[in-house]
Formats: sequence, structure tokens, C-alpha cells
Amino acid sequence: MTAAAAARSILTQLHEVMASRLHAQGKLNQVVDIIGEALDSEVCSIYLLREGMLELYATRGLNQSAVHVTRMGVGEGLTGTIASNVETLNLAEATAHPEFQYRPETGEEKFHSFAGVPIVRRERAIGVLTVQHVDPRRYEEVEIEALQTVAMVLAELIDNAGLVDGEDASGRDASLSEPNILSGLSLVKGLASGVAVFHQPRITIEHTVAEDTEAERQRVYLAFDRMREQIDQMAAQAEFGVGGEHEAVLETYKMFAYDEGWSRRINEAIDSGLTAEAAIERVQQRTRMRMREIDDPLLADRMHDLEDLANRLLRMVSGQVGTAASMGLREDAILIARNLGPAELLEYDRRRLKGVVLEEGSLTAHVVIVARAMGVPVVGRVANVRSLIREGDRILLDGDAARVSVRPPPSVIEAFEARFAKNKERQAVYAKLRDVEPFTKDGTRITVMMNAGLRDDIPTLNLTGADGIGLFRTEFQFLVAATMPQRERQTRLYRDILEAAGDRPVIFRTVDIGGDKTLSYMRSEYSELDENPAMGWRALRLALEREGLLKAQARSLIEAAAGKTLNVMFPLVSEPWEFDAARQVFDQQLAFLKQQKKKLPEQIRYGAMLEVPALAEVLDLIMPKLSFLSIGTNDLTQFLFAADRSNPKLAERYDWLSPSILRFIRRVVNTTAGNNVDVTVCGEMGGRRLEALALLGIGIRRLSITPAAIGPIKELVCKVDLAEIGEAMTGWLAEPPANMRQTLEDWAADRDIEFD
Ligand code: PEP
Ligand code: MG
Repeated sequence: MTAAAAARSILTQLHEVMASRLHAQGKLNQVVDIIGEALDSEVCSIYLLREGMLELYATRGLNQSAVHVTRMGVGEGLTGTIASNVETLNLAEATAHPEFQYRPETGEEKFHSFAGVPIVRRERAIGVLTVQHVDPRRYEEVEIEALQTVAMVLAELIDNAGLVDGEDASGRDASLSEPNILSGLSLVKGLASGVAVFHQPRITIEHTVAEDTEAERQRVYLAFDRMREQIDQMAAQAEFGVGGEHEAVLETYKMFAYDEGWSRRINEAIDSGLTAEAAIERVQQRTRMRMREIDDPLLADRMHDLEDLANRLLRMVSGQVGTAASMGLREDAILIARNLGPAELLEYDRRRLKGVVLEEGSLTAHVVIVARAMGVPVVGRVANVRSLIREGDRILLDGDAARVSVRPPPSVIEAFEARFAKNKERQAVYAKLRDVEPFTKDGTRITVMMNAGLRDDIPTLNLTGADGIGLFRTEFQFLVAATMPQRERQTRLYRDILEAAGDRPVIFRTVDIGGDKTLSYMRSEYSELDENPAMGWRALRLALEREGLLKAQARSLIEAAAGKTLNVMFPLVSEPWEFDAARQVFDQQLAFLKQQKKKLPEQIRYGAMLEVPALAEVLDLIMPKLSFLSIGTNDLTQFLFAADRSNPKLAERYDWLSPSILRFIRRVVNTTAGNNVDVTVCGEMGGRRLEALALLGIGIRRLSITPAAIGPIKELVCKVDLAEIGEAMTGWLAEPPANMRQTLEDWAADRDIEFD
């Protein structure tokens, strides 16, 4: 008999029992008879977890007087070992196993062979199903398979009957109900508290036994098709760098998605009488067990991908395809994900989204920039979050210390609340700086502007008291939209921003699409492109070719700024002619609107972003054309170090305080001096206190930073003597200390300047 046939004959009978009107105990009594009979075993027993102990709930073959009497701890005896390891045991001679324990009340001494499988619900062992036989023989593979399948169905029955308590039986899973502290990399500072919400929610399997096997087969077939399509699409996008889903991962995904063995095993499980969902989970359980036996870290990584994929398949099959965002957040939430794209993050309700925990992530990935702009703390690079955190767990997220406290005990909550309060106090101090102009100790006015990109950022401008918006990332409007935003909508947004800013300048950066900012509605255009999206067809390169897009944006900006000053900045300018070409598009639109007798801006100032190192070599050529130059250190550092800003493996590798970056920026400052061109740093670097200090030291006088950093940076500015830090930096850059960060920290500490 095949494993499927063996399981099917048991399942058919179990189905009847489950549908019967018997009470739970009666059902279990019948179940042990059915299984014992089918596997030709003298003994079949079910142990369930109750009050933390495994209790004999039903048996055929052992003394009935032992039912509800025999109890053992998790990890105790063979049954306890199965539960604690969530592992199958198959022994020809039970007494030969080191964990064997003899229980006289059961009368089991005459039985030699023993096999047991864990009963697993929501990845936790809630009981054990065992069979025993007089003859010393190992059970066959098909029999074990059948037992495992039956255990799945039993899990449903037991859960529905509320027969077990909520505790875990397995040691691994026990850790899932205990407090835990995970550490990672601080991506956005701040404190947050909420319940864990998985960006891709896990599916709970409601029904395990199929009514119609053919229908289940069809469901899996369709789900496989859709999943493969989705993976292919992701792979096509990944060539364009979507949210850091890496090539290796996608390769593995693809390999699994098209793995005939996997789909065949699921089909076999369906043949045995399981529903599509249960079949996927059944195969997954089996794979998990096999992988654990192999104990190879490389394979463990692969397993992680397969889990992801199996979960994806489960969602497809059960029709629950949306992310947690589409279902809406019901309470304060900490979002848990492997990685996210910026658009995906923006789908969440900003009032309820309190923090984010990522397995990947890097400081300058756009999803992190968006989170920073939203004031949502992020801890990234937390290994295995999805197996250490359960949906609904209470989480305290400490973005400052890069720690995630899962299921915290009261003492930790208390300490956290105290810090929360302190943080609020500090925020209040920063808020007081709102109207304070940032003058250095020696009386130099530093311009501190904020970065923005969404309509929701408008109130922040007034709250922070920023000197204006030094970088308005216009592509964010494109990212949050389902289709290309029409010109009228663009104009409306730009007009509202300008109105809110009043006399303060707003620098609109033309669309920087591409890299890790992909638009679903432009996907077909990216797909044929290169493998290095950050260095590919993006930003101005794309805008100059999609001239319609840039024209529409130019028109919107010019119209929105009627009667005002319009500041336009082009991203990723690599050679001066690109600036000229972009400017020409604006000139044409200006001429057209003039001809139409439309009211025009009072003046238009043009600027370029310095993000590509090559531009630094031709500053003399481009400077006469510019009113301002903005150094985008996020992209600039990735190109200077040849280190992808979205790659989590490189997230901590290079320091913004490295002599190469600081010397580079200083050279730009020196070259532009006396040219009447405003030079600003608008990358994330400028929002960090120690980095800002170094920038002041090399002559930067204008910063555009994330809103939350405005207060801290203003406070810093007021404590700095420019001559002093300038001199120190000159010395350090001439002869760099072994550790520039440490040197600056010491310098700052000596002057009572706090750093992050
Ligand atoms: C930069 O590259 O530094 C920058 C400010 O632009 P973005 O982060 O949007 O690429
Ligand atoms: Mg950039």
C-alpha cells in the first residue's frame, strides 16, 4: 500500500468520526481504534498537553486505567522527547532508547516496537500520537507517513474541541512564549511599542480533511501557477532592484517554485485525503524534519526561503493574498518583514504603524528613508525574526539600541516606559528649539532644512521650524499611486506644498524613479534592463528618455509656482549635458506657458544633485549654470565605495566618517567656494550628529535632513565653534586617525556635545 492510500483509508474513517456527534473524548477513543487497526498495531495512544504535562488521553492496547493518570513532562521519556524535539521516533526496541522510561500502570512491558509523531498546531507540539507493537520491528516509512498525516488531522480535531491548553510542548516552541530580546542594526532611531503584525500574515489551516480531492488538486495547481507567475515577476523587477530582494534569494525561490518534487509531494498529500492547505503544510512539516536532521547552516538558509514560499503558496490557495496593510491595522502595530519596498510601507496606516523590524534593510534603503520621514523607528538585520516572533506578540522596539524586546516581562516594560517618558522630554526640548535660529557659537547662521516627499509632511515643516524643504522627493507621489499621477494632481500637490512653506524655500527634485524605487505601472519598461539598477536607467536618465513624464512634471511645477520662486533640482546628474537637456525641457514648457499668457513663476532657480562622483571632476563646467548644488551622500557613498546602498550585507561596512568621503566632500566645498552656488548636503548623513559635526568642520553650512533630526541638529549647531572644529578636521583629514568616529566622539564628549 502507498503512504497516500494508507493515510486515505484512515482519513476517510476519521472524517466520519470528526463529523459525528460524539463528545471529544469519545472521538479520541474511536480515533485510536481506527489507527491501531489500520496500522495493525496492538497499541495506539494519544497524549495531549495539559497544564504543561503530556497526559494520556486515549489508548487502545494500554491499560484503560492509565488514561488521564499517566502524565509526563515535556522532554521526559520517549513521548516527552518527541514533543520537545517536535520529531518523529521509530524504534524497533523501545527500551534500547536512552530516554525510555517505564510506566508500570500502562502495562506496556510486553510491547517492543514503538513509533510516535508529534501533533503540531500553529508550529507547536500540542500532543503526541504513538503506536506500539509486540514484535520488535521498525514501522515502515509508509506507516510513519500515514501517522504524520493523521496527526495533522488530529491537531484540527483537538484544537476545535479545545482539548489542550495554550502552552507549548516543545523546547523550541517554549521559547516562543517566553520573553526574548533580539538585536539588529539601528536603521531609524526612536522607541515604539505595539503588537507584532506580519507584513505577509501566516495562514491558519481551518480544515485538514478534503471533501473533494479533485477540487483540492485543482486549487493547488492554480496556486502554483499564480505563485510561479509572481516569482517570475519579482525576478524581473529585481533586475531593477526592488526593495533589496536579492538575486540569490530569488534564484532559490525560482528553484523551489519550479521544483517538480515539491509539487508532486503536495499532490501525494492531497491523494491521502488532505485539503490543499493541509497538504502544503504536511509537506512543509516533513521537509522541516528532514532539514533538521541534516543540520547544515546553508540548507537552513534555504529552508527559510522555502518556508517563505510555502507560506506564499498557502496564501494563494486560501485566497488570503493581501499583505497586512490591505487588511488594515487594528491596533498599534510593529510590522515584521523580511524586507519591504517604500511603496509597501506607505500602504500602512500611519497612525497605527509604530515600528518596523526587518530581517534585511540598510540605512539608506528607500524604505528606511520613508520610515524615517514617517517617524517610524526601524531595527533591521534581525536574524530569523519570523521564527522568533509570533503574530500578536507584544513588542517593544528600541531603535536607539537596535533591540527588539519580544513578549517583554513587566520589569522590561517598566524600564521602557521610563525611557519613553525621557524621550518625550527630549522631544519637548527639541520642540522648544523650533523658533531658535541655529547660529554656531561663533555666530554663523547654519541653514537647516528638511527632506520631504508627501503631503503628510506639510505639518512637520511648521512643527520642526525647518528653514524650508531642501529636498522634496517628488517621486514619492508616484510611488504611492496605483497609476501615473496626472498633471493636475502633481500641480495640486506642489501648489499645496509651496503654500504651506510660505516664504521658506522648497527645492523640488524631479522624479528619481528607478533603483530601489520602482513603479508597478512602469514595470514592463524596466524588465528588459540591466542587472545593476542603482547604476542603471533611473532618475534623470529615465526622465530624459521618458520626456513626456518630465514635460508633465515641468509644466506642473511651473504652474504651481506661479508668482513665486521655483527651485528645481535634477537628480543623478553625471555629465553637464544632462543638466542642459533637462533644463531645456523646462525652458520649452516655460515658453509654451508664456505664450498661453499663463502666470509664470517670479524666478526659477535650477540646481543639480551631486551623487555621481564623475560630476565632481567637472564642477567648473557645470557651476556657471547652477544656482545650487546638493550633495546626495546616500548615492554618492554607494558610488564612491562601490557598495550598493540597499545591500544589507554592506550596511555596516563603510563609515560616513571615513577620510575618503570627508575629503571628497571637502574638495567639492572648496571647488565651489566663491561661485555663488549654494552647497547643501541632503543625504541621511547630515541628520546624524557626529556626521553633521564633521560636515560643519569641512565647510558645509547648509543641511537638508530628515525631520526628526532638525531639533537635534539645531541643538548641535548651537554648541559648535566652527573655527575649532574646522581646525580639528583639517588636522584629522591630513593625517587620519585610526578611528575617525572614535576621535570625533572623544572631541565631542570633551565639549559636552552629545552624539547619537
Ligand atoms: C541621496 O542620494 O543622497 C539623496 C538624497 O537622494 P535619494 O536618497 O532619494 O536617492
Ligand atoms: Mg539619490
